[in-house]
Amino acid sequence: MQIITDRQELARLVTQWHRQGETIGVVPTMGSLHNGHLALVRALDGKVTRRIVTIYVNPIQFNNADDFRLYPRSPEADADLLRQTGIVDVLYTPDSKDMYPEYFSTQVTVSGADTILCGADRPGHFNGVTTIVTKLLMQTGADVAVFGEKDFQQLSIIRRMAEDLNFPVSVLSVPVVREADQLALSSRNRRLTAQQRRQAAQLPSLLLACIASMKHDQTEENALATCRTKLTQAGFTVHYLELRSGETLKITAAADPSARLFVAASLGDIRLIDNMPLS
Ligand code: AMP
Repeated sequence: MQIITDRQELARLVTQWHRQGETIGVVPTMGSLHNGHLALVRALDGKVTRRIVTIYVNPIQFNNADDFRLYPRSPEADADLLRQTGIVDVLYTPDSKDMYPEYFSTQVTVSGADTILCGADRPGHFNGVTTIVTKLLMQTGADVAVFGEKDFQQLSIIRRMAEDLNFPVSVLSVPVVREADQLALSSRNRRLTAQQRRQAAQLPSLLLACIASMKHDQTEENALATCRTKLTQAGFTVHYLELRSGETLKITAAADPSARLFVAASLGDIRLIDNMPLS
């Protein structure tokens, strides 16, 4: 596995690969890698002949300076983990001087992305995501890009952008990878104290209970209100808890086959997100 930080060096390599008829898959990440990220890498099996993982903690997608500063970073362990897979050709770790030089002034905006869920909760976040993903797709010359359902709204926005702007890339998705107690794997979990980690396990179990009651005995409204109360009692600050279509992200009913439950909730200053399909 080659570690490349220089954009021109990466450009030379991907040009050479394309000339040789190779196909390129990319997994964009912010590092502090875990099995969720590795599942994205494995999703490229049989789809491409070359694999690039990018690690870049993208400053413009953080709407909170402390969140950016405290975001976990473990560059050596990340490189080791990727090397051990034996299937990653390049780890690309660009730096901010190159990503956002002095006169950088372009942003990619998917209309409406900032009005719901994490978009409403984190102003400017998705503009930062779409801008960096556009740059990474251009820089890596990827034929296939993989994103996780963990960040379901992000995945939807990236699919919209790739389709609207005719990016020559196929977008693949991977279901949420979870711990044994069902907590979704996340780099931010590393910041939880032992007590917060125990509390965090209540997030997926309360979502599952909410889904069960929506399907059986309660209206959506009542089930969501009960779940919100229980999350608050468990120590969470709930940012949103909503039932939306997995296709359009519009508010929907439990009978919709694409319905998913979406949550963002914080323990202290650590913001966790999750989502689950009803069916
Ligand atoms: P991040 O490093 O958190 O920006 O995530 C990079 C990519 O990995 C995104 O496409 C995420 O949706 C995906 N990802 C992160 N955690 C998980 C998980 N637990 N299951 C599936 N995909 C994940």
